[in-house]
Amino acid sequence: MVPIYREESREKVLEVALDLKRRLLQAGLRVHLDDRDQYTPGYKFHEWELKGVPYRVELGPKDLEAGEAVLASRLGGKERLSLEALPALLPDKLAAFHQALYQRALDFQRAHTHKVDTYEAFKEAVQEGFALAFHCGDKACEKAIQEETTATTRCVPFEAEPEEGFCVRCGRPSAYGKRVVFAKAY
Ligand SMILES: [Zn+2]
Repeated sequence: MVPIYREESREKVLEVALDLKRRLLQAGLRVHLDDRDQYTPGYKFHEWELKGVPYRVELGPKDLEAGEAVLASRLGGKERLSLEALPALLPDKLAAFHQALYQRALDFQRAHTHKVDTYEAFKEAVQEGFALAFHCGDKACEKAIQEETTATTRCVPFEAEPEEGFCVRCGRPSAYGKRVVFAKAY
C-alpha cells in the first residue's frame, strides 16, 4: 500500500490506510503499508514492482474522498475499487493473478520449446530455448554436445510421450524411450 499525500493531507490519508491495512490483514492477506516520508510515490511503485509484489494499492486524498483506492496489478492495468469492498475482492484477484502468471510462464516455455530431429535444428533451438531431442545416453556424446553447443540435458520429462528415435547428434538409437530436454544453463 502506497499512501499519496501532501503535508496537510498526510494524517488523514494514513488514518484510512491503517484502517484498510487492518481489514486486509483480517482477510488473511499479506500487506505492507509503505509510509516512508523520504521517498516519492513513484519511487515506491518502482521499488515494490521490482520486488515482485502482485498488487499495489494506491491511496490518494481524492480517491479517499470518493471512498475508493486504485489497485494496480504487476501484470499491467489499474482499476478503482471501493475501500469497503477491497478486502473481500483481493483473495480472488490474487488467485487469478497467480494463474495468469503461471499461464504466461507456461506459454513462454511452450513457445521456446522445439522438437528437433537434426543436429542443425538442435543447435538453432538451444540458441533461444529448449530442444526436445532423442539422445543415445552416452556420456561422451553428451559431452560433445555440450562442447559444440554449450547445451546440456535438463531432464527426461516424466510425462513425455513414449517415443523411439535416433540420437540427434550421433544417430545411435535413443536410450530413454522418449525425448530429452536440452538447453543452455545460465
Ligand atoms: Zn549420441
